[in-house]
Amino acid sequence: MTFDPLLKKPLFGAFKGPKTDTHMLGPIQTVDAPMRHYAPNEEVDVVIVGVGSGGGVLLQRLARAGFRVVGIEAGPFWDTERDWVSDEAGSEQLYWNNLRITGGENPLVFGENNSGQGVGGGSVHWAAFTPRFHPSDFTVHRDTGLGADWPISYWDIKPYYEQIEREMPVSGPPYFPWGDPHGYIYGPHPTSAVPNTLVDGCTRLGIRVSSGGPVAINAGSHADRPHCIYRGFCIQGCKVGAKASTLVTHVPDAIRHGAEIRDRCMVARVNLGKDGNVTGVTYFDKDKREVEQKARLVIVAGYAIETPRLLLNSACPGFEQGLANSSGIVGKYLMAQAGNVVMGRFPDLIRMYKGPPANSLTEEFYETDPSRDFVRGFAIQTVGPLAIGFAKQLMASKGVWGWGMRREMMDYNHYSAFGLLGEILPWEDNRVTLAEGSEDKDSYGLPVAKITFSLHDNDKTLIAFARKKTEEIMWAAGAEDVSQEARYAHLVGAARMGNDPRTSVVDSFGQSHDIPNLFICDGSIFPTQGSANPGLTIQALAIRTADYLITQRENVLARRGGSGEAPPPSLSKELEPWGVSGRGVPRLGGMSKKGYEKDHQHNLEDERAHQHAGDDMRMDVVGPVGTGGG
Ligand SMILES: Cc1cc2nc3c(=O)[nH]c(=O)nc-3n(C[C@H](O)[C@H](O)[C@H](O)COP(=O)(O)OP(=O)(O)OC[C@H]3O[C@@H](n4cnc5c(N)ncnc54)[C@H](O)[C@@H]3O)c2cc1C
Ligand code: SF4
Repeated sequence: MTFDPLLKKPLFGAFKGPKTDTHMLGPIQTVDAPMRHYAPNEEVDVVIVGVGSGGGVLLQRLARAGFRVVGIEAGPFWDTERDWVSDEAGSEQLYWNNLRITGGENPLVFGENNSGQGVGGGSVHWAAFTPRFHPSDFTVHRDTGLGADWPISYWDIKPYYEQIEREMPVSGPPYFPWGDPHGYIYGPHPTSAVPNTLVDGCTRLGIRVSSGGPVAINAGSHADRPHCIYRGFCIQGCKVGAKASTLVTHVPDAIRHGAEIRDRCMVARVNLGKDGNVTGVTYFDKDKREVEQKARLVIVAGYAIETPRLLLNSACPGFEQGLANSSGIVGKYLMAQAGNVVMGRFPDLIRMYKGPPANSLTEEFYETDPSRDFVRGFAIQTVGPLAIGFAKQLMASKGVWGWGMRREMMDYNHYSAFGLLGEILPWEDNRVTLAEGSEDKDSYGLPVAKITFSLHDNDKTLIAFARKKTEEIMWAAGAEDVSQEARYAHLVGAARMGNDPRTSVVDSFGQSHDIPNLFICDGSIFPTQGSANPGLTIQALAIRTADYLITQRENVLARRGGSGEAPPPSLSKELEPWGVSGRGVPRLGGMSKKGYEKDHQHNLEDERAHQHAGDDMRMDVVGPVGTGGG
């Protein structure tokens, strides 16, 4: 607030909080429509537990399609103007910081590097890298004998990828060569020093690299959201509103179409009726009062930890080992990606905080290569830790503290950082269970999640190879000192989809095998995870689930189950959020399945040739070819 020293009062008047039912979501974006409120004793069509990445998109679609829908969210409805700060320490509130018990041989770290809480969920703090999965991700078991297969193929999800890429929207190069090659409607972002180091290192080693995206950050204004201003606080929420999160992309449209969001309300259990269908949920409201919300359909979208936790906490007669868990699979096959960060110190100024950390990447090592002694692969991406995160990484990688840490921190502006994203396979013993200690309860008295995580042989060999390759690229870029921190990112799985009710929890639309009017719509339904960041796929699947529900409406609402048939591709313009269409035309339509299969073998051979190429070979940098909205 600015003070006039003479008048001794604020020049622009005191900052008044928003009026009831208005929300500031950025400097120029306001949800000014009054939110609908259903009475607690009123049965609604759908309750969605968690308004995050998956839940936020689904809420918007169902509201637009005329469902009476309530989203119940454990965290706050952020007012970005008032609640958010462009500051690392001040942004810890964006994370799910409640107690979780972690164990196994490679315990995962929770809190600040994990799931989100509050409307928008993890899409509020994500870096917004948005690559698609490759076609091979859907047939991992068929191709390698390890992991699992999806009950759908890449070609089933492709129309949904194209749709959600418009809705976020995703900025990227005109040609992205890996997986099913495709291009982006919005042009790529310009590069800064960190992306330049990845491009330099890859180019010197003959590795193809994409620059300027794909990222869900505006390279041009879009509807009522502005162009990115390149100040680097993306993981702190992006106060500007240029980065896509469901809070700014889908929630406003959901509210305008009659959805209700109850924030700061923690769902304690999903309730089962005598007829074997769910009847709604019980939650603790803002004042910790227990409230029951009846619904004809319940969709759990709470993240790969909280979704299995809620199902396990909802055990009841008939489902003693957890709701919808006749298979015993709920909680099992949890996955994290290897997320080692490699840091390199350069003689020149880098300044990692300049621009979004998500900018450049290579997927050259994504596919299984028979010449390596592990299956599947990894991606390498730019990351740009801010000062606190960087200090923690230095401590982990170099063991420095005290004066040694201060000395290293003086060189912060000379560091660049790459993150590898390695595909860890789904293993039965990597799982979520309920903690059993009498102390292991949250503030509502609910047992917290206990997570057990250990690497298996394939994972360890893959990570060792990926780490070495990432370090090689950093050295090749001209670093004079390279170190790395081992870490994990992006939890998915633990309630996986499949065709067989004995080995999976839900079908490909997220519908529970056991209970026809219970769905799951978040990353927990992934059978495998590839080496692509999961957010785009979570949101694409959310549109697919919504399409299914809209097509099957009375079948599922009347608790008769669905027909199991795939809905038509979701390109229906009337259900996308306001402001999406009429801007930009895709430059490339991608490839047909037949074309992909023909090219796939050729690409693999090509990739291997590049991997073994000599040091002096110059490779393509994919984008940028100009910036700005398309
Ligand atoms: C630092 C960081 C950077 C990342 N960067 C990327 C990236 O660049 N690209 C990418 O694709 N992914 C990225 N991710 C991962 C991404 O954020 C998640 O994969 C994604 O948001 C998960 O979506 P979801 O729908 O499964 O769950 P969430 O988005 O986490 O939504 C779950 C919501 O449910 C709520 N909830 C849970 N339990 C309950 C309950 N019992 N009652 C009521 N509400 C409940 C939670 O509060 C939360 O809001 C990043 C993650 C981190 C930590
Ligand atoms: S760099 Fe761009 S996307 Fe990131 S916080 Fe700033 S405006 Fe938002």
